[in-house]
Amino acid sequence: MKIFNTKNELSLHLSSARNSGGSIGLVPTMGALHEGHCSLLIRAVEENSCSVVSIFVNPTQFNDPRDLEKYPRSPEKDLEMLRSHGADVVFMPSVNEMYPQEDSREFDMGGLDKTMEGADRPGHFNGVAQIVSKLFEAVVPHRAYFGEKDFQQLAVVKHITRQLTLDIDIVPCPIIRESDGLAMSSRNARLSPSDRALAPFIYRSLQDAASLQSFHTPGEIREKVQEAYASRAELELCYYEIVNEESLQVVSDWNEPGGKLACIAVMLGGIRLIDNLKFA
Ligand code: AMP
Repeated sequence: MKIFNTKNELSLHLSSARNSGGSIGLVPTMGALHEGHCSLLIRAVEENSCSVVSIFVNPTQFNDPRDLEKYPRSPEKDLEMLRSHGADVVFMPSVNEMYPQEDSREFDMGGLDKTMEGADRPGHFNGVAQIVSKLFEAVVPHRAYFGEKDFQQLAVVKHITRQLTLDIDIVPCPIIRESDGLAMSSRNARLSPSDRALAPFIYRSLQDAASLQSFHTPGEIREKVQEAYASRAELELCYYEIVNEESLQVVSDWNEPGGKLACIAVMLGGIRLIDNLKFA
């Protein structure tokens, strides 16, 4: 496993992989790796001759400086996990390497950045678009792997890839959960033991809501979820929305065309947790 800190060294190494006709699979991460990240890497290793994992806590996607400061970091453990899962290349740049000067690029995300996480975290998706486009430029992958855990991010990444006419296959990967249903997230490590015990309520509330699909409109289900959270003081519901899986626009009638999913964000002990569940 090769580890690079600069774009130049990385592209030099990857150009030989590319010239020998192989495919490159990229897994962008912010480190503090868990099995969710590893599932993306396993897929990248299976489908490409060269797998690249980036570890970079991207400052431009944090709208809250305290969240950036407290973001968990475990580089030694990360490298061990990547080695054991067969990663070929790890890219760990400094902030200065990725942002030698301030990046003022504004991306048009076709409105995908205006709802849910985008509405609650102004500038977040523009920061995501900045770093993803920089990583795509540096690695020039054939495929890039993203988790459905961050469903809105996946939609934004697909959109900018199309808009920048990049020939990169964006591969969505299913959500990996703890045994009690909590979606794996680097932020889970920051939960206190008592908050960690409450956290599985989030996935349960998504499942309970989905079971009402035959009896209620999307709007009624949303109200029921809001009621369920109103009696749980520790779990602050930021949003629960039933949306179209392409446009991310709110669904008001089950007969509307297209796949549908419920997206949720909850604050628990000052930590923002997100999850989602597709409707059958
Ligand atoms: P992050 O390090 O949180 O930016 O995540 C890096 C990538 O891993 C993103 O594409 C995430 O959607 C994906 N990811 C994070 N958690 C999970 C999970 N529990 N299951 C599947 N993918 C995940």
